[in-house]
Amino acid sequence: MESLEVELDRAQDLDVGELADAIESIGFECTRCGACCTASEGHDPSDSRPRADDDEDPHTATAFPDEVRELQAATGSDWRDVARPMPYGLAEGPDGPEGETFEWALQTDACGDCTFYEESDGEGRCTVHDDRPLICETYPFSVALGGTSQPMGEAVDEAGLVRAHECEGLGRDISRADAEDLARALKKRAIRELEEAIGVRDNYDPVETGTGEVVVYDSEGPKAPDGTPR
Ligand code: SF4
Repeated sequence: MESLEVELDRAQDLDVGELADAIESIGFECTRCGACCTASEGHDPSDSRPRADDDEDPHTATAFPDEVRELQAATGSDWRDVARPMPYGLAEGPDGPEGETFEWALQTDACGDCTFYEESDGEGRCTVHDDRPLICETYPFSVALGGTSQPMGEAVDEAGLVRAHECEGLGRDISRADAEDLARALKKRAIRELEEAIGVRDNYDPVETGTGEVVVYDSEGPKAPDGTPR
């Protein structure tokens, strides 16, 4: 893979019109099925690992530190109400997860669904729609650049640099205006993901992790699960 800096240059040079062309050619309309917001099978917008027996896994959508703060401000919540340490890489200790991880995931409820997801009459709703993270705003698309996230495993469709991942809304007509909005968000996300990856790499300063302790090394340095610096 090229260096993260090279991939960041590429992300900054992405042409929104070309991304929108690709999104239009693939087609997409959200059906409000809730699949990308809940814990059940196929409901994991940021997990790029192969899915095997993880039907019961809680939802894991990546949120950047500034996105966590924006959601805190929008909802008047504590850090822990909004985000939890990304579980990948953590070990199961005697009192729960322990170890180090490099991302934040949106907090989940008792069912393993995103804490901001609500459902009524079979229709799903995001209660923080205007403040939802970029991974949610751009689902089910990603761009084929190293160092960016490729949600939900292998792409099921692609056009140019745009990949589409498992979603029942794919293939539906999308307006040019909506395709352009999505393309702008997709470019913003690619840039943001690469900036975050560079920040994580540059600010990785290992701290001693005690038994039963979790440390999240995000782009701002090591943090405790409540978001305070370590
Ligand atoms: S923040 Fe909203 S869009 Fe994102 S996973 Fe949660 S409910 Fe879904």
